[in-house]
Amino acid sequence: MEFKELASFYEKLEGLSSRLSMIEVMSDLFKRLRYDEVDKVVYMVQGVLAAPYEGVEFGLAVKMAQEAISIATGVSKTDVDTMYKKLGDLGSTAEKLRSVSKLKRMTSSTYTVEMVYNSMLKIAKTSGSGSKGLKIRILAEMLAASTPLECRYLIRYPLGQLRLGAGDYTVLEAFSLAATGSRSSKELLESAYNICSDLGYVAKVLFKDGVEGVGRIKVSLFRPIRPALAERLPTAEQILKKMGGRCAVEQKYDGFRCQVHKKGKQVRIYSRNLEETTSMFPDIVAEAARSIKSDSAIFEGEALAFNEKTEEFMPFQETIQRKRKHGINAMAESMPLHLMAFDLIYDGKSYMERPYSERRKLLEEIVSKDSDRIKLSKMVIIESAERLERFFEDSVGDGLEGIVAKDLSAQYVAGARGFGWIKMKRSYKGELSDTVDLVVLGYYLGKGSRAEFMFGGLLCGVYDKKRDMFETISRIGTGFTEEWMRELREKLSKIRLKSKPARVESLIEPDFWVEPKYVVTVRADEITRSPMHTCGAYKKGTGYALRFPRIIGEEPIRRDKGAEDSTTSVEVIEMFEQQKKVSTKPHP
Ligand code: ATP
Repeated sequence: MEFKELASFYEKLEGLSSRLSMIEVMSDLFKRLRYDEVDKVVYMVQGVLAAPYEGVEFGLAVKMAQEAISIATGVSKTDVDTMYKKLGDLGSTAEKLRSVSKLKRMTSSTYTVEMVYNSMLKIAKTSGSGSKGLKIRILAEMLAASTPLECRYLIRYPLGQLRLGAGDYTVLEAFSLAATGSRSSKELLESAYNICSDLGYVAKVLFKDGVEGVGRIKVSLFRPIRPALAERLPTAEQILKKMGGRCAVEQKYDGFRCQVHKKGKQVRIYSRNLEETTSMFPDIVAEAARSIKSDSAIFEGEALAFNEKTEEFMPFQETIQRKRKHGINAMAESMPLHLMAFDLIYDGKSYMERPYSERRKLLEEIVSKDSDRIKLSKMVIIESAERLERFFEDSVGDGLEGIVAKDLSAQYVAGARGFGWIKMKRSYKGELSDTVDLVVLGYYLGKGSRAEFMFGGLLCGVYDKKRDMFETISRIGTGFTEEWMRELREKLSKIRLKSKPARVESLIEPDFWVEPKYVVTVRADEITRSPMHTCGAYKKGTGYALRFPRIIGEEPIRRDKGAEDSTTSVEVIEMFEQQKKVSTKPHP
């Protein structure tokens, strides 16, 4: 496919305000691709060069892109910058300058999608001295031979500003439509994607071996699996009942989730949102290579700092703070991180489909008893609510957050929140027993004393996984420090959109819409019904809202979660129902 054609698809997608039309346009696009370009175009539509866990970054700053535009159009750097300031978008700046440029377009070559992809990859891979100039030249060369519309996207793509608004699940639905003529294979494609976390790879297998081929995608080393997630229930009785009278309970550690992949001495770690975090955990990497008794394994655990003097785990906030203050290596010495292993996914072959009891047994075999860095999470099997309650109380007494109960016969379900794991957390008086993670959908300008920060609060939402849509749940207007206001304004102004994105459903109009990207953790007093918000309204007629919401944490934006990892509307409805049940008998 020529890049020109892809650019006109981009233009079409950009103008759409409905998710269904987006799926149709994308399916149309995928149908026109050849086998050897399909993965590349999938990455290009997502604004990346490879699956996100590969961590391939363009490494191209706005100033460098401006210089490339200047070379390609013959317009001075100052003039490029002036127009950029006026239009607020460097892609449109390039488009405009290309169309009025006196330098003749070098039309001898037309770029295919593959050529553009390869050049962009070269831009990303070029590093070291002289790399800046080379990156600029590669980009300038493409711009010089391209049409104004192509220029718009040649600039936005490496700057991470494509913002087509297509989430992973929308892309998967488009795959399904393209391959089968219907959107109904979406679920199967989704399970495969949850196992390999690489949309380009799923697209390639689909193209070659069809939906059945995708169904055969297996767990493999150094390709992170989307993590299994826990449901929540407020009381020991309810948990035990749901589990059928007998289950495992583990202590719940509040740290960083780590998915450890090990082959021989090679170890890589991935975070909850599938970023490679190997370099953050040198001590755990070394220990996994040394002490894990399996040649090739994938297991999960929670990493957190342990104070050896007091024999206590440090709370999450403190773990991050220390890491920031002391640097990774100093921290490894002064306050070593421990990995509390809680699940095993792979040991020479996949164990995802095997029951928890069997996975746990294998995990106990491969985690060396003599290791004081990588340990097993504390676990007991219980058959009574009293015993569960006691274990919970003891865990809280040990300074932990609570417990996770585990169904002994449950499989490891990648990327899904299910009742195979049920969490129960300590609650605080007069507050919802759990925090919610909300995606920022828009923001307001400040009035009065806030005017100087140009920031007056956030419009936040939840995720409807089934429809792949974001719904509003709360406006958050208080509790921001000056530092937070500055940070939020700066970050959000970079992802501002002209109109409401296609995947957002809202009755409220903030001063600015933003690309759904950042997640904040919010504590509230309760969940109430509200006709103002669209959270759950699609299911329940009237929406849900938060009473007295406030952002918690060291910094406002949560780094380990993306938009689609925010709390779902289904969870909010569940929490609302649970709140009714426990409101007469508050939890300790
Ligand atoms: P979620 O991960 O469910 O979206 P969250 O990130 O806010 O929510 P929590 O609600 O605190 O996290 O609970 C789930 C997380 O608890 C897991 O993702 C995992 O990182 C952590 N965890 C700690 N101890 C355990 C354990 N023993 N078993 C499973 N998970 C555990």
